[in-house]
Amino acid sequence: MSTTTAKDAWTRYRSVPIVYRIGAAFVLGSIVGLIVGEPATLLQPLGDLFVRLLSMIIVPIIVFTLLMGVRQLSPATLGKIGGQVVALYAITSAIAVGIGLAVANLIDPGSGLTLTESEFETQEAPNAVEVFLRIVPENPVGAMAEGNILPIIFFVIVFGIALVLIRDTTEDESLRRGAEGIFRAVETSAEAMFKIVWGVMEYGVIGVFALMAATLAQTGAETLVSFGVLVVALAIAVTIHIGVVYLGGLIALLARQSPAAFLAGSRDAMITALSIRSSSGTLPVTMSNADENLRIEEGVYSFSLPLGATINMDGTAMYQGVAAIFAVNLVGGSLTIVEQFTVVAIAVLASIGAAGVPGTGLIMLTLVLTQLGLPLEVVGFVAGIDPILDRLRTMTNITGDLAVATVVGKWNGAVDFADGIWVGEETPTATSADD
Ligand code: ASP
Repeated sequence: MSTTTAKDAWTRYRSVPIVYRIGAAFVLGSIVGLIVGEPATLLQPLGDLFVRLLSMIIVPIIVFTLLMGVRQLSPATLGKIGGQVVALYAITSAIAVGIGLAVANLIDPGSGLTLTESEFETQEAPNAVEVFLRIVPENPVGAMAEGNILPIIFFVIVFGIALVLIRDTTEDESLRRGAEGIFRAVETSAEAMFKIVWGVMEYGVIGVFALMAATLAQTGAETLVSFGVLVVALAIAVTIHIGVVYLGGLIALLARQSPAAFLAGSRDAMITALSIRSSSGTLPVTMSNADENLRIEEGVYSFSLPLGATINMDGTAMYQGVAAIFAVNLVGGSLTIVEQFTVVAIAVLASIGAAGVPGTGLIMLTLVLTQLGLPLEVVGFVAGIDPILDRLRTMTNITGDLAVATVVGKWNGAVDFADGIWVGEETPTATSADD
């Protein structure tokens, strides 16, 4: 191939929106994993590299965009927006568990399967007081080093408010200019982070191919088939939740916007979540989609999205409903209405404070099963299929975060609905983002 043809091919390749290239990698990687089997697990490090690259940007992107957000808003407005965000998070999570239970009651996953013995360690339920106390970091640098999102949010908001106070109320002119200078430097740094996100997404094509090939090589076709009904039940519940609650309820009804535009604006984040199974890891992409595609202001998304990545997990909460019915079917029992409500309560509460990392949903399942007096072996039993189920949960989790940010943005006049994706413009591609 001559250099010009190679260059042409590269330019053509890069002009395809990144989400399609990653989508193709997702499908091809899955097929290769299933066909090649065991040897495909050797690709895992290439996938891990993608996850590490994304993780690298999480803390800086939260810090920089959150400071920009605090710069825009008064503490009172921040409080009001926070209240709306948390209320919508709680309501949508409860609905999600309800949908999960209803779908699983209809489809009956688990009937026909028998429980095989397996080992699984139980986890302690998080203590509510501890969860709240841990929001305040003993050491902000430590929180950042460990990537603990809630304490980071707390510290950055406090620091941002202090900077705003210095900028707006201090007599000393040079201090005032200094505070504004910090904000300007932060603005440029946030832009730089978004540039890095696009660069990382370019590598994501290889990373996602590798992740999917390695996962399906490990899971294997047999597990996929025997747990097929469970996967289908969760897939249906997730589709109903995204379609009815997010697109119909939040976007069309409350925000009065086009669901298609919302999906087009959120698709990079959705496919990344589907690929890496971590809401926190996806955060840089979720934030970039909120900023560049959905045109939400930093004042809303900069803290609602990191908060959502840890406390708003509709897919995870919904899975508890589906898995509880699955577990009951395995042992041949049934759940009373009161027990089903118990599932809703535990699932919503347990998802608060749980980290948005791969496999959290499975750990939460131990709490639900213990509460219902069901055998904990179920957790070990479904662990083999969890890498597939986790993808659906995580995608739902981050879509919910973006939908809530859109609605709260609308309520507070913090979304530019007259621009970009909302008026039918294409999403930026990696090539245009280079400009
Ligand atoms: N992996 C999910 C997330 O990061 C949590 C889960 O396991 O359900 O959002």
